[in-house]
Amino acid sequence: MAKVEGLRCRECGQCYDKAPIHVCELCFGPLEVLYDFESGPQITRERIEAGPPTMWRYADLLPLDGEPTVGRQVGFTPLVRAENLGRALGLREVYVKNDAVSHPTLSFKDRVVAVALSKAREFGFQTVGCASTGNLANSVAAHAAEGGFEAYIFIPHDLEQGKVVGTLIYGANVLSVQGNYDEVNRLCSEVAGKYGWGLANVNLRPFYGDGSKTFGYEIAEQLGWKAPQHIVCPSAGGSLVTKIYKALGEFSQLGLIDGVPTKMYVAQASGCAPISTMVKERTEIMRPVRPNTIAKSIAIGNPADGYYAAETCRKSGGWAEDVSDAEIVEGIQLLARAEGIFTETAGGVTVAVTRKLIEQGRIPKDESVVICITGNGLKTIDAVLGKIGETIPIAPSLASLEEALAQRAHTLPAKTVPVQEPLATAA
Ligand SMILES: *Cc1c(COP(=O)(O)O)cnc(C)c1O
Ligand SMILES: [Zn+2]
Repeated sequence: MAKVEGLRCRECGQCYDKAPIHVCELCFGPLEVLYDFESGPQITRERIEAGPPTMWRYADLLPLDGEPTVGRQVGFTPLVRAENLGRALGLREVYVKNDAVSHPTLSFKDRVVAVALSKAREFGFQTVGCASTGNLANSVAAHAAEGGFEAYIFIPHDLEQGKVVGTLIYGANVLSVQGNYDEVNRLCSEVAGKYGWGLANVNLRPFYGDGSKTFGYEIAEQLGWKAPQHIVCPSAGGSLVTKIYKALGEFSQLGLIDGVPTKMYVAQASGCAPISTMVKERTEIMRPVRPNTIAKSIAIGNPADGYYAAETCRKSGGWAEDVSDAEIVEGIQLLARAEGIFTETAGGVTVAVTRKLIEQGRIPKDESVVICITGNGLKTIDAVLGKIGETIPIAPSLASLEEALAQRAHTLPAKTVPVQEPLATAA
């Protein structure tokens, strides 16, 4: 396990002992985990490769004192070479990092929760919880069940059915708050202070955030110990994109990869784009917004790590973009039809933003690109229902089948049976 020296303020550098705290007492800056990678066993490719096929192969780089006690199977999801998607987008080398199939709750939040709740156990918490836009709720509830914690989960009242059911099923107490995520989050800060619970993304946030580093470690290892030239990542609170870049930097420092040529791109929905707006307007001041988008999982109007996410785009030479709800649905469809991967709205955002960045000439067509797919489409069916075609009703007879097909072929507009379009012929 990594040697955790303590916590340090990202703004003023003030150091603190390891504790369930997340804000600097001096300047209110966010705290991050301070490691000493030198004191433990030497971290080599061979040592990592000999580890389990999970995120815990990187345990030397994660902030636990002992073995993980929940989420031991999380991570090491597929990195898919996406040839069909590449053809559709005009890219030579594109990969999908597919956390839509994350075990156990089908989003990358399993990574952050495996660390946060294992840490909660080390701190001695018996009650855990979170403020969530959906996926974190699912994952905290599942891992709380696994670890025998009591769970209090706070969500905005208007989440998708799939996200609500996927939390209640684990027996968590689910508080449906009449307000948006930012109001939920504010309430949770008060809750953490008053009740002393371990809230994954509030007082356990420094530890939670470092679970996201494993997404970046895996990309580099799965590319054959190499960082790609471009990574497009959906942002909500702004943590994941920041931590992927941090992970690549650590790998480079440890000599596991040869440098980090990677440009980082934030993908957001236009209905909630505070980070993308900062990058596009080249400002360091974040203007909070009131979210209005179908991409609810990334609808955070006042992102905790928004400043750092924008800075990551800037200093890596990347950029940010945002897309409309209609483009999000197109993005979901494009990935599903090209690669057979059904992602949720956040993934639709990422695919659509990637297309936009290519059209803008920001991502050159002959360079390597990794698209971060962070969640599963079965949880956000509400967003696509009625927009993706319909079933063909028939009676259980050949005659009915043939009649329906004849009718359909007859009424199909010609442009939906293309001959030369790569997507249609690549199937
Ligand atoms: C939470 C979430 C994100 C964004 O994560 P941040 O670290 O808060 O920026 C992206 N995609 C999905 C599906 C999520 O649930
Ligand atoms: Zn400080």
